[in-house]
Amino acid sequence: MITLKGRSVYGGIAKGIISFYQRDEINITRLKINDPEKEWDRYTQAKNAAVEELRALRDKTAEEIGDADADIFFIHQMILDDSQYEKSIQTFILEERCNAEYAVARTSQILAEIMREGDSEYIRERCTDVHDASERIIRHLQNRSSVDFKLDDVSIICADDLMPSETAMLDKTKVAAFCTKGGSTNSHTAILARTMNIPALIGLGDVKLEDYDGMYAIVDGYDGMMYIEPDNDTIIRINRREEEEGRKRELLQRLKGRKNVTRDGREVEVYANIGGLADLNSAIENDAGGIGLLRTEFLYLQRDSFPDEEELFYNYRRVVEDMKGKRVVIRTLDIGADKTADYFCLDKEDNPAMGVRAVRLCLRRQDIFRTQLRALLRASAYGKLALLIPMIIDLDEVYRVKDIIHKVKDELVNKHIPFDNDVEFGVMIETPAAVMISDLLAQEVDFFSIGTNDLEQYTLAIDRQNPNYETVVPPNHLAVLRMIKLVCDNAHNHGIKVCMCGELGSDLSLTEILLDMQIDALSVSPPQILPVRRMIRSLNLSDRRQVHSNIQRVLHY
Ligand code: PEP
Ligand code: MG
Repeated sequence: MITLKGRSVYGGIAKGIISFYQRDEINITRLKINDPEKEWDRYTQAKNAAVEELRALRDKTAEEIGDADADIFFIHQMILDDSQYEKSIQTFILEERCNAEYAVARTSQILAEIMREGDSEYIRERCTDVHDASERIIRHLQNRSSVDFKLDDVSIICADDLMPSETAMLDKTKVAAFCTKGGSTNSHTAILARTMNIPALIGLGDVKLEDYDGMYAIVDGYDGMMYIEPDNDTIIRINRREEEEGRKRELLQRLKGRKNVTRDGREVEVYANIGGLADLNSAIENDAGGIGLLRTEFLYLQRDSFPDEEELFYNYRRVVEDMKGKRVVIRTLDIGADKTADYFCLDKEDNPAMGVRAVRLCLRRQDIFRTQLRALLRASAYGKLALLIPMIIDLDEVYRVKDIIHKVKDELVNKHIPFDNDVEFGVMIETPAAVMISDLLAQEVDFFSIGTNDLEQYTLAIDRQNPNYETVVPPNHLAVLRMIKLVCDNAHNHGIKVCMCGELGSDLSLTEILLDMQIDALSVSPPQILPVRRMIRSLNLSDRRQVHSNIQRVLHY
């Protein structure tokens, strides 16, 4: 038996065969070529092989799925045959004496940039096809085949690290657990695992997980352990633990249908954080008081072209209708940083977490933003929908977003399309800037939602993806707790409510102090709802002096 220790980001026990996820990185550097003619031949051969492959793929898809789906390969073929595309590659190779890989990659980048500026949505959406088609040539130049990670059986996915888009693409019904060498508890992959109710370990350290591909393993998400080819004693011990945890879960079920009130009668809403329709059942099963955060970007990550307004509308309407009148807070697109999709053709930034992401991107790419807002507003006619804007740092952003919402509402009015004119409008408080102007923001919006995941990384100056996160940042840093208090005070002084939707909200050791600071609601991943509710129901906040002294002790006032 091999025993590995990591940090657990979500409890539970999983058993299965290890499947190692190998990311196929393409690294390209610019090289000076001595014989450009020979390099051009190399390119031509790779291109012909790519075109041949596309032709075969097109025929196979047409036969197995249908002509419409097969067309994409025809488009890729057309891109590779495009005279402008080829001319650019030729210039790089023959005139600038660059290596073929660089010539193709750079051409693809330039062409995508031009297309992104195009007027038609269709042309803009083709950026990703240029990228894909070019990648196919590069793979041939580098003699590599493309990876297609398919799971036949329920597996324990092991990886050095997983991007949110990669996680989102996996077939959830076949994933028993995630285990990664790197990662941090606040990373989106960890959040996805929690939302999906999947045991997950990160930080397994300096091990070659690929060596265990195909072996049987047990993941103990409670203790952060992974047992590869476990011995009998371990199997018996783990089975016992599984039964014990099952009994605890059953006890929690009794809370369903009961109010979330503290022993002295204060009501605190507990909502669910979800990433899309796939998580909706889990939110309902765990008796969520509503949806406190729908991360809309995941719908954009699981595909290779923009969803249209109808698809977005269908998704939002389903959530709102299925929640049957309960409040549904839908956050507008928070794309960028670690959550990217090629077809957005985002500019390459040295530090994308501090770059053009979330509302910054939406204000620049208003076509994408307006489509989403139109779908959201249309869905607001079918239930209790609230809009939430991520990554706000400035009042001006709020004014600009409000202005766009007004315009979209006018369009809907003109077309006689119904929507809720009083749809709530809130902002995420997830930057130190937003905290410091929360008194002003509170006068402009209907509610706040504190995103502690980003608030921690920007306040404590550590990337939330950094595998050393937990060793650098002390838990429950005083700076962050004080910020939460300031935001609650500013919000309440202006008569608006505060929810916390960051991961800190499910830290049961903090529930009491958060309620002492008057947080109004918590939004957590669905499996955390009942444990948080149990904690709320166990608290008694009636003794004001005790509350005051708790705040003084924890916040060092
Ligand atoms: C946060 O930053 O705390 C948050 C809830 O948003 P996300 O984790 O999606 O960035
Ligand atoms: Mg955030």
